[in-house]
Amino acid sequence: MSLAELIGNTRVKTTLSGYLRNERVPSSLIFAGPDPYHQLLFAQNFAKALACQKGSGFDACDRCRPCLAIDRGLFPDVQVMEPDGQFYRKGQLDELIASACRRPMQGEKRVFILRDAQRLNESAANAFLKTLEEPLASNVFILLTTNLNLILPTIQSRCQILKFLPLSSHEVRLELQRRGVDPEKARLLAIFSADTVEDLTRADWGELEEKRRSMLCVLERLIRQSEVEDVLLDLYDRSRVRESFIAYFREMVNLISVLLRDIMVLMVDPAAGGTLINPDYKEKLMELAALTDIDKVFFLIRKMEFLLRDIQRNLNARVLILEFINSYAPVGMARGA
Ligand SMILES: [Zn+2]
Repeated sequence: MSLAELIGNTRVKTTLSGYLRNERVPSSLIFAGPDPYHQLLFAQNFAKALACQKGSGFDACDRCRPCLAIDRGLFPDVQVMEPDGQFYRKGQLDELIASACRRPMQGEKRVFILRDAQRLNESAANAFLKTLEEPLASNVFILLTTNLNLILPTIQSRCQILKFLPLSSHEVRLELQRRGVDPEKARLLAIFSADTVEDLTRADWGELEEKRRSMLCVLERLIRQSEVEDVLLDLYDRSRVRESFIAYFREMVNLISVLLRDIMVLMVDPAAGGTLINPDYKEKLMELAALTDIDKVFFLIRKMEFLLRDIQRNLNARVLILEFINSYAPVGMARGA
């Protein structure tokens, strides 16, 4: 991969290419944004462009020896570090500072990429600050962070700060299509499954398809008030493992909200087809739209969002789920079918 091939954050890409083109590479940079894996890809490819022997001068060729070595993490002049434990250890910083005093081994630049730079505690950051204050022209430090506010202002003021945006669903969709995913599948995967670049590499159509189908089934049970106990028991069962339950429930709220949104669209305009997010379920959604009304749909969406919030706040999931099911339909009704 090269800088040009990275998806999203075009402005950051333009800035980095500008540094390379004008041969004015800052000695310290901060990449701040919500997706650490994406920032790492940018940092690694920027390092490749700096070390590349055959590229254009402002991007990597992706084939020469340094390019390939950097991809494998084996290039001596590019060092990627991450905290050893909750914070960077003092020993790690000492090593970093020592190697920052040496000349590059193969190229003109030595690049240090620090992942989770917000996890440099104050004493580590102060030790590191000296290195930043007396930069060796050959060193480039790239600090990656998901939380710029946690980086000491004294460090921030010595760095060029590049802010990253999350990928838009349009960018995700184009990227999936570029990777050969069918356009309709790419559209749905972009909406439901892939928010980060790391998700993209895992995006699995079969898995999403199964989840959508099963959530349509849950929604149908809620609307028809039939076999609601099964929904309840399934959620109870899952709530035993808190972490996976929250992830599951978040996804459930997301998928069901979008199905409900489609139901609302169909209530307003039964001929709508193109504006549905799940056009393949149109027939079933029409059936469900006939069984409910806008107020109930709004109620359900709001209630599920509150429920997700409360569960994340560590309240008792079982009590909340029961309360949710009962509030949507009185217990007597929930038993009926
Ligand atoms: Zn190269």
